[in-house]
Amino acid sequence: DSQGGYHRGTLQPFTYIVAIYYLIFGIVYAMGNRSMLSRQVVTSITAFISMTVVAVIVQMINKHLLVECFAASVCMLLIMFTLQSQDDMIDQGTKMLNWSSFVNRCSIKYASASDFTLLLIRIPDFKMFMKTFGGRFSNSLLRSFSDYLYNFVNLGDGFYLEDECFALMFPKDSEKVGETYRAIRKKLSENWNIGTVDTLITACFMRIDCPEDVDNADMLVDFIEQFKHREPETERLLHATDINFYDSKRRSEVENAIDKALDNRGFEVYYQPIYSSSRNKIVSCEALVRLKDEKLGFIPPQEFIPIAEENGKILKIGKYVFEEACRFIKKGVGTSLGIEYVQVNLSVVQCMQSDLVEQLLSIMDRYKVDPSSICLEVTETAAVYTPHIMEKNIKTLSDYGVKFALDDYGTGYSNMTYLLSLPFRFIKLEKEIVWECFKSEKAHIAIESTVAMIKKLNMQIVAEGIEDKHQLDTLLGMGCDFIQGYYFSKPVPEKDFIEVLKKNNTQAVTV
Ligand code: C2E
Ligand code: CA
Repeated sequence: DSQGGYHRGTLQPFTYIVAIYYLIFGIVYAMGNRSMLSRQVVTSITAFISMTVVAVIVQMINKHLLVECFAASVCMLLIMFTLQSQDDMIDQGTKMLNWSSFVNRCSIKYASASDFTLLLIRIPDFKMFMKTFGGRFSNSLLRSFSDYLYNFVNLGDGFYLEDECFALMFPKDSEKVGETYRAIRKKLSENWNIGTVDTLITACFMRIDCPEDVDNADMLVDFIEQFKHREPETERLLHATDINFYDSKRRSEVENAIDKALDNRGFEVYYQPIYSSSRNKIVSCEALVRLKDEKLGFIPPQEFIPIAEENGKILKIGKYVFEEACRFIKKGVGTSLGIEYVQVNLSVVQCMQSDLVEQLLSIMDRYKVDPSSICLEVTETAAVYTPHIMEKNIKTLSDYGVKFALDDYGTGYSNMTYLLSLPFRFIKLEKEIVWECFKSEKAHIAIESTVAMIKKLNMQIVAEGIEDKHQLDTLLGMGCDFIQGYYFSKPVPEKDFIEVLKKNNTQAVTV
C-alpha cells in the first residue's frame, strides 16, 4: 500500500489449504517409504517442514513481517545443499546421470511398483580407442555418443553406468525401445566423426523389462555388472532372458558356503597325478581345492574361486591349500612312492601380497618342508596386474629353491615377456588349447611349434587335459615332458591318490 505495507487478498487462505494438503500428502508418502530415506534426508525434510510451519504461524500473527518467503528460501537452500548436489548425480565426462543416480532411480521405481524398460548400450571397443587414440579423443567420443543418445529420451532418462555402458529408461513396453535400437544401429553403420578422425563404433545392446526380467534393484545391479563384463555380442538386440544370469542369491549362498567351510575346515584338497615322460612314472601332482556344502552340494572351483578372489577369502583358502600340501609332503608317503614335488595354484590376489614370501616360508618352515618340494603355479594375469610385486615374489622364492610353473599357457594373456623374464621351470599348456590340436591342422602345427620353442628356451612342458591314449601319444610325440589328465586319474582325495601312486609307481607305467 502507500505506506509500503504488505496485504493479502481474500483468496489467500486458499494457498494455505493447498499447502496443508501437500504437507499431509508429503508426510504420508514419506512415512510409507521410510525405509528408502537416509537419515540425512529425514533430517532435512523435518527441518524444512518445521521451519516452514513456524514461519507461516509467525507470518499469520504478524502480517507486517515477511518471514514466510525468507524461510522458504532458506529451506530450499538447505534442501539443495543436503540432498540435491548436482555434481553427485552427474557423470562429469558424459554429462549424463551417473551410476548412483541410476541405482537410486531404479530402487524408487521398484519400490513404487512402476514398471519400466531399459535399453543398455555398451561400447566394447572403447579400451582399444583409449589405447590407440588417447584419452582426449576417447572422452570426446563418449561425450558425443551420450549427446546423441539424448535424441531418444528426456534428460532424466539417460544414464552413464561407467565401463562404457549407457542405459536409456523407457516406460514399460514402449515402442520407442525397438525404434531407438534400430535408429542407433543405423547410425552406427556409418562412420562416427570426432574432430579429424572418422571411426566405426560397434555396440552391444540389451533390453531389460522390469520387473519381469529382473525383480529387484540389487539384482539389476548384478545383472548390469555381468552385461558389462561378458563377451561382447554385437549382432543383435539381446533380451535379458538370453543371457545366463548368475543371480545374486546364488552368489551370496556361495559366499556363505565359503565362510562356513573356512570356519569348519570344510574345504578339502584333492590331488591329480602328473606323469613324467622321461622317468616313465608319476613324479608330481597338482593340489586342487574342493568345496562341498550341505545345502548346495558340490560347488566347482570355477564358480567359487572367482567369488573368493573378489571378496578376498582366497587368501585364507590359498593358505589352507598350501598348508595341506605341506602336511601331505611332510607325511612322506607320497615321497616314498615317487612324488618329488607338489604343484599348488597361487591366485592373482595372493601374488599381489607383499608378504607372500614370508607367509609361505613360515608355513614351509613349520612343516619342515624343503622349498624344492613345492612348485607354485601362477597365471599371467598376475604378472599383468602387478608385474613388480609378482616379479619380486617369484625371484625371491626361486632363490629359496621353490619351482614355478606358468599356468594356463595359451589363454588370453599369453605373452612372451613373462616367459622370457621370469624364472619359470615349467609351462603348463591349458587343456582347451591341447584339445584344439585335435580339431584343426593349423592348431596342431601352432602347438607343436610352441612346444619346440619352449623346450629351446630350456623350460619344460606340462600338457593338461589328456583324456585318452590318442591324445597322450600325440602330445608325447610333440615332446611334452609331463602329462596331466583324466587318462592317468581325475583329481582324487589324498587316500585314493596314494592308491593311484601304488598302482602306477611300484611298477613302470604302461602308457
Ligand atoms: P587349473 O589350474 O587349470 O586346473 C586344472 C583343471 O583341469 C582342474 O579343474 C582339473 O580337474 C581339470 N582337468 C585336469 N585334467 C583334465 C582332463 O583330462 N579333462 C578335463 N575335462 N579336465 C581336466 P578343477 O579342479 O575343477 O579346477 C578348476 C580351476 O580352479 C583350476 O584350473 C584353478 O584355476 C582353480 N583352482 C583349483 N584349485 C585351486 C586352488 O587351490 N587355488 C587356486 N587359486 N585356484 C584353484
Ligand atoms: Ca593349475
